[in-house]
Amino acid sequence: APALFWFRQDLRLADNPALEAACRKPVLPVFLLDDEAAGTWRAGGAARWWLHRSLAALDTALRTRGAALHLARGRAVEVIPALAARIGANEVHAGLLYEPWARKRDAEVAERLRAEGGTLFLHSSALLHEPHTLRSGQGRPYAAFTPFARALFGKGEPPAPFRAPQELSGLELPGLALEALELLPSDEPAWWQGMEESWRPGEAGAQSRLARFMAEGLRGYGEGRDRPAIEGTARLSPHLRWGEVSPRQAWHAARAAGAEGDHGFLKELLWRDFSYHLLWHRPEMPEAPLARRFEAFPAVRDMRLLRRWQRGRTGFPLVDAGMRQLWQTGWMHNRVRMVASSVLVKHLLQPWQDGAAWFWDTLVDADLASNSASWQWIGGSGADASPFFRVFNPVLQGERFDPEGDYVRRWVPELADVPRRFVHRPWAMPGGPPAPYPTPLVAPEEGRRRALDAFARMRAAE
Ligand code: FAD
Repeated sequence: APALFWFRQDLRLADNPALEAACRKPVLPVFLLDDEAAGTWRAGGAARWWLHRSLAALDTALRTRGAALHLARGRAVEVIPALAARIGANEVHAGLLYEPWARKRDAEVAERLRAEGGTLFLHSSALLHEPHTLRSGQGRPYAAFTPFARALFGKGEPPAPFRAPQELSGLELPGLALEALELLPSDEPAWWQGMEESWRPGEAGAQSRLARFMAEGLRGYGEGRDRPAIEGTARLSPHLRWGEVSPRQAWHAARAAGAEGDHGFLKELLWRDFSYHLLWHRPEMPEAPLARRFEAFPAVRDMRLLRRWQRGRTGFPLVDAGMRQLWQTGWMHNRVRMVASSVLVKHLLQPWQDGAAWFWDTLVDADLASNSASWQWIGGSGADASPFFRVFNPVLQGERFDPEGDYVRRWVPELADVPRRFVHRPWAMPGGPPAPYPTPLVAPEEGRRRALDAFARMRAAE
């Protein structure tokens, strides 16, 4: 009997265990847009642009191997069993997902299929290690990164990746055209131009990005990774987010290029796994603070402040450059993400959930595990968070990691001609910052004091 292969967040043909299991039979490859099940966490605007492009690339790749991508929209619990019935399949294969909504939905789909005599097989394909198989010495899930990473390094190497199937025996059913998924709004100007110029979604784009980083970037990663003005990191996050490359492909590529066990790049891949570990064991993470005491943190929602931050008009050049890089390209450098999120939560006292929601809508790599774990980490409420009282100073961070101001000048054209010594503090220039660049929403020291006061009030109320 034929099998149904359900693509979700593993939009690749190589090293895809679920596809490998399905393709021994005649197979119908399906992608289904199920916004209803995802609810609040349906893909945001930038991620939808990525998905649109990635699905087009996936269909092209499938066609060179004898299959085509069937596109559908609707509730998985109805559509997947119906499609399986139409092709006479009693096996549905897919990659495991970890988002709370997806777990619930997949359980319902499995149930419905079972009632009709079919089976949903979920294969491990998105992580280096499955969260439910990992326990600390005390038998509990890990709550801190260092012991988690130590344990994973101790487990030895993840399995070697394997090649894409050469030939598929693809089945076809009339489905939707890609445009009918309406991932790109037709009634809005093409805001994705900057993304088109920055990225090449799809498996081929992911592989060339990976190869380039291994050849040119890995060696200098230790220093380069904190320099937003250069391409010092892999820029693989959206490709990993959509599963166009698997983490073990990235892991083994880095090993082959000479990365030692404690290499920073391998550790970052483990941070990704750790975020999923947290999401699996603490499904409330996207909405509620992991450290309960932060429920009483006195954040004061102020839409005016939030909007200034979103638009890159806080008056802190490093933050504004990052927020504009995000808006234009759908991605922001990690160092700048840390400073920008810290300024929102600490200097401006805004709820971290509001910042996370903006990132959700604007990042091409927006992923529920990494995004919520990182926002909580910055806000002090996360697992293994740095203590709240360590407040990033956006000026000193800029001077340290963008010493020439190249990053700022590139993304904030108002500051293009500001001399180096003022580029991270333009308000100190004689005559103030060049118009229309704003003065800071709060003086750096005043923001720090306010954040520490708020923290003290939360502690006092305990
Ligand atoms: P590299 O430095 O080349 O790292 C390689 C890979 O490791 C990345 O592609 C990513 O998959 C993983 N990785 C690196 N750092 C982290 C991290 N801190 N946590 C988890 N995985 C990591 N990353 C996302 O993928 N999606 C998000 O939605 C996301 N939101 C974030 C929000 C905030 C507030 C912060 C501070 C960080 C967030 N990150 C997120 C983590 C990190 O900033 C990005 O993964 C990284 O910038 C991606 O660029 P890169 O591929 O060049 O990274």
